[in-house]
Amino acid sequence: MNLIWLRNDLRLHDHPGFAMAQQQQQPVAVVYILPQHWLQADQFGLDRLAKAKARFLRACLIDLHRNLYLQNIPLQILHGDPVELLQRWHKKQPYNLLTHSVQAPEESQWLTELDATGIEVTTYENQTLFSQQQMQPLLQQWPASFSQFRRQIEKRLQPEVATPQPPVPLTQPGQEAPYITHVPWPADFSSAREPSGFHLRGGESSAENWLTHYLWQSRAIAHYKTTRNQLCGREYSSQLSAFLAWGCLSVRKVWHAIKDYEKTHGADEHSYWLGFELLWREYFHWSLRVHGHRYFRYQGLSDQPLSPPPLNNRHWQAWQQAATGVPMIDAGLIELKQTGFCSNRMRQWLASFFINDLKLDWRLGARFFEQHLIDFDVASNWGNWAYLAGMGHDPRGQPGQGRYFALNKQLRQYDPELQHIHQWLPQLKSHSLEHILTHQSGEHCLPEYSAPIHCSHTVA
Ligand SMILES: Cc1cc2nc3c(=O)[nH]c(=O)nc-3n(C[C@H](O)[C@H](O)[C@H](O)COP(=O)(O)OP(=O)(O)OC[C@H]3O[C@@H](n4cnc5c(N)ncnc54)[C@H](O)[C@@H]3O)c2cc1C
Repeated sequence: MNLIWLRNDLRLHDHPGFAMAQQQQQPVAVVYILPQHWLQADQFGLDRLAKAKARFLRACLIDLHRNLYLQNIPLQILHGDPVELLQRWHKKQPYNLLTHSVQAPEESQWLTELDATGIEVTTYENQTLFSQQQMQPLLQQWPASFSQFRRQIEKRLQPEVATPQPPVPLTQPGQEAPYITHVPWPADFSSAREPSGFHLRGGESSAENWLTHYLWQSRAIAHYKTTRNQLCGREYSSQLSAFLAWGCLSVRKVWHAIKDYEKTHGADEHSYWLGFELLWREYFHWSLRVHGHRYFRYQGLSDQPLSPPPLNNRHWQAWQQAATGVPMIDAGLIELKQTGFCSNRMRQWLASFFINDLKLDWRLGARFFEQHLIDFDVASNWGNWAYLAGMGHDPRGQPGQGRYFALNKQLRQYDPELQHIHQWLPQLKSHSLEHILTHQSGEHCLPEYSAPIHCSHTVA
C-alpha cells in the first residue's frame, strides 16, 4: 500500500505523489497530520496556528476531503507527533510513504527518523518552479543575491518551467487510517458567522476560481506593477500567496497561466513583474535548501558571530497587543492578527519597525508572523525577515545593516488619505494626515491615542 502524507501540497492537480500512486496501482491512503507542537505556545507565548491561519488551513482540508471523496479516497486528518503516528500506523499496516521533499530542517528530521525505522520514503518536488536537476548548476555555487540568481535564470540557464499536470483519476481502492485522532482546532474559530477578514477561502477549488478571476475576469494583473505596493483592497496584488503556501495551487500552474495570459493579451511590465515576484519566492526556497539551519540563526547567513539584543519585554508586549502607539504599525498588526494577511509593503514596515525601532531580535518577529500568516511559507518568511534585518542575502555593508523604512515618509507616500489606518483604527477617523504624522514623530501626541513606545526621533 502507498500512504501519501500531504503537508504543503493540498491539491490534486499537478501532484507527483498522486501520479506515482496511480501508476503503481496499489491501494492508497491519504493523510494530513496537524503537528501537535503547532498548538503549543513556546517561551514567548507563540504557537504556530493563530485563528485566521487555522481557519484557512481547515478550509483547505475540507475542500480536499470533498475532492478526494468524489474519487472514493478518504482523507484522514490526524493530530499528534507525525513521526509517532506514522510509525504506529506502519506497525499495524505496512506502507510505502510518499511525501513532498523537505523545505525546513524540522521536516528533514522527521524524514530521517521515519527512514531509520525502516519505512520506505519516496519524496517528490512540489513547491518550486524548477526541479533539483534544473537548479543543479546554481546549487553548486549559490548566487549571493537575488539579482544574480534572476540574471542566471533569465539569461544563462533559461530553464523551462515544466507543464503542470491535470489531476489523475484515482482508481485504486482507498484505505482508512487504522485509528482516528481528534483535531483540536483553536477554540471558537469554527463559528461560521465570525468573519475571517481575508476575502478568499482556503482550498484548491477556491484557488483555481481566484486565479481565473484575477487573470481573465477582472484582469487585475493588467495593473499589477502599479498597484502591488498598496495597502488595502482586493486586487491590488495577486493574493495568491496563501494558495501557494499550502500548495492549493501549483506554482508551475500559476507560471503557465501567466504565460497563457501573455499569449492572449500580450506581455507587459505587469505580467513580467508577477513572474519576477514568483522568482523571489523561488530564490528563497532554494536558498533555504542550500543554507539549512543557518537560515534560522540570529547572525543568519553571515559567518561573523553576532549576539541578539536582550529582550525588551515592554516593546514585545506592546507589539503583541498591537499597541505600540504608532498608528500605521498598530493598524497593520490588527489587520495581521484578525485576517492572517497584510500587504507586502505593510510587512516591510512591520519588520523594519520591529528590528530598527523596537530593537527586538528579528527571529521573534519571524515567529510572530509564522503564528499569524495564512500564507506562512518557511522560506519566504524567514528569508524576507533575514533580508530586512541584514542577516540574509544581500546585506547592506556589514551584516546586521538591514533595510530601514522611515515610517512618516512611507505613510505620506503610500497612505496619504489614511485609508488603511482608518479601516483598522476607526477611532482615528477624525484625524488628518498631519495629526498622525506629528503623533508618530512624538512632536504632538494625540490625547486619545497612546504615545509611541520607542524613541521618537527614529520615526520622522
Ligand atoms: C517580513 C516579510 C515576511 C513575509 N512572509 C511571507 C510568507 O510567510 N509567505 C509568503 O508567501 N510571502 C511572504 N512575504 C512576501 C510577500 O509579502 C507576500 O508573498 C505577498 O505580500 C503576498 O501577497 P500576494 O500574493 O498578493 O503577492 P504578489 O505581490 O501578488 O506576488 C505574487 C507572488 O509572488 C511571491 N512573492 C511576492 N513577493 C515576495 C517576496 N518578497 N518574497 C517571496 N515571495 C514573494 C508570493 O508567492 C506571491 O503570492 C513576506 C514579506 C516580508 C517583507
